[in-house]
Amino acid sequence: MEFVETRGNDGNHPKTVSFSEAILNPSASFGGLYVPKSLPTIDEVFLQNHLNSSYKELAFAILKLFQIDIENALLKEALDLYDKFDDPSNPVPVVKVEENLFVSELYHGPTRAFKDMALQPFGYILAKLAQRRGENYLILAATSGDTGPATLETFKNRDNVKVACMYPAGGTSDVQRLQMVTEDGKNLKVIGIIGNFDDAQTALKNLLASQRFKETLAQKDIKLSAANSVNFGRIIFQIIYHIHSYLELVRRGEIGMGDATNIIVPSGNFGNALGGYYAKKMGTPLAKILIASNANNVLTQLINEGRYDLRNKELIKTSSPAMDILKSSNIERVLYDKFGPERTKELMESLQEQGFYELSVDELQSLREDFDADFTLDSEVKEIIKEYALQKNYLMDPHTATTIKLYKKYSSDKNVAYSTAEWTKFAPTVLVAIEGERGVRDQEALERISKKLGVKIPEPIAALFHKPIVHDLVVPKEQIEEEILRFL
Ligand SMILES: *Cc1c(COP(=O)(O)O)cnc(C)c1O
Repeated sequence: MEFVETRGNDGNHPKTVSFSEAILNPSASFGGLYVPKSLPTIDEVFLQNHLNSSYKELAFAILKLFQIDIENALLKEALDLYDKFDDPSNPVPVVKVEENLFVSELYHGPTRAFKDMALQPFGYILAKLAQRRGENYLILAATSGDTGPATLETFKNRDNVKVACMYPAGGTSDVQRLQMVTEDGKNLKVIGIIGNFDDAQTALKNLLASQRFKETLAQKDIKLSAANSVNFGRIIFQIIYHIHSYLELVRRGEIGMGDATNIIVPSGNFGNALGGYYAKKMGTPLAKILIASNANNVLTQLINEGRYDLRNKELIKTSSPAMDILKSSNIERVLYDKFGPERTKELMESLQEQGFYELSVDELQSLREDFDADFTLDSEVKEIIKEYALQKNYLMDPHTATTIKLYKKYSSDKNVAYSTAEWTKFAPTVLVAIEGERGVRDQEALERISKKLGVKIPEPIAALFHKPIVHDLVVPKEQIEEEILRFL
């Protein structure tokens, strides 16, 4: 399988690259992204054959369809990391919550958020490729809370890869912070930045632009890579669970083979939703991909009105911080798939230069054939968490709660909603929702919710409050470069 570029080729990059090239060096011509030249197809025979496959068997079969340049043994080792999930025989449980609402729980991995689904196997493969090539990589991450822990966890103590992770000091939940600052590994550096998430991202951008930083990397023969969701190595693992969830409904007799379901995806950078779009394009019987947002509703506007508009928009901090995003990178891959590289380049340049782009009537119609979208405000999120926890006996985190409005709109169809984080990562918000009490910190909120609702606090979360802190560095953003150079 060859990979091509969403904004066309600039003559300096190769015209096509292999999968391993695309994941090691993910930046393509004109600031674009790598996409597969064509998508493999799955048909009813494939789905029927995998009706009783385990998650890992299904994953392996799907990866093989892409004909990527990674050999079977390595793919299998990477997929074995799903054995670290709560139930190795079923890493992604699908729970029936209402007659037409099934929640596919993507958070049963080591850091309790869906980032593990892709980062666990992806990190393993990336490190193995680096080792084989005798190359050293630095992964830089600026995180608002979930990407950081999952990136550290997957690369911890792997040779040939170092990770430097920056988080806004005071800007994450206690659980998220502890997941990072207690993560012990010789190749990991975690730095708190005095400031907010924007400051952490700005620090990262300044670093990438710094001549001294580039020279040091060159001197030490270290290459830069990225583990964020624009890396196709993450996307490929995010196709699998959409197909798994579909098969799960067939297996249980909830739908017949070939009947279509909707999926509802809490979205930020659009990696998860893109995985669903690819699953649909490949042949999984999915009717609509329903995009759930919070108050940062750029995607709702795009899908409902055909305008991606950043003018006069400021990032709003919400109770679902992993979805607090204005520039949703992976939508570009949908634009490419539907409208081709020239048009994608034009649209993305318009966004860069003028802060917006507008689709034609036909283009919008094409987008709406696959997608619908809505957004949910924090006040509504709290009501939803409360309603489901107290009346429907299902506890969800604030990200997951954003899916419910779309479920209600489509409740006469079968819907699979994705749960992208466990409630334990956002216990203070959940406590506000069900008891109305504000200002309680994570540890106490966890215990109170656990007692009230009789739900378990998983061991990796409970243990965080007793683990030694190994990264206690908090610095102003001007000092980041120095700290990372020292680490290298
Ligand atoms: C990353 C994340 C999202 C958003 O996922 P995208 O693939 O970037 O759209 C949603 N919820 C949680 C909890 C996340 O960590």
